[in-house]
Amino acid sequence: MVADSTCQLCGEHQETTNHLIFQCRVSKEIWSMTPSIQIPSDNLLSNSLIENVSMLLTLNNN
Ligand SMILES: [Zn+2]
Repeated sequence: MVADSTCQLCGEHQETTNHLIFQCRVSKEIWSMTPSIQIPSDNLLSNSLIENVSMLLTLNNN
């Protein structure tokens, strides 16, 4: 049995932790509803989950 690794939110990309938190268009819509939390802008996003989490913490004063 082969599991479907397509993102269940957008159905457009492979579902990785990095995709779910930072790259998915549906997640970005959800983040946009939480103005007290800044996420890295698209041009700053990395394919590295660790780098993106680090930027998230920096942008939000840890
Ligand atoms: Zn997605």
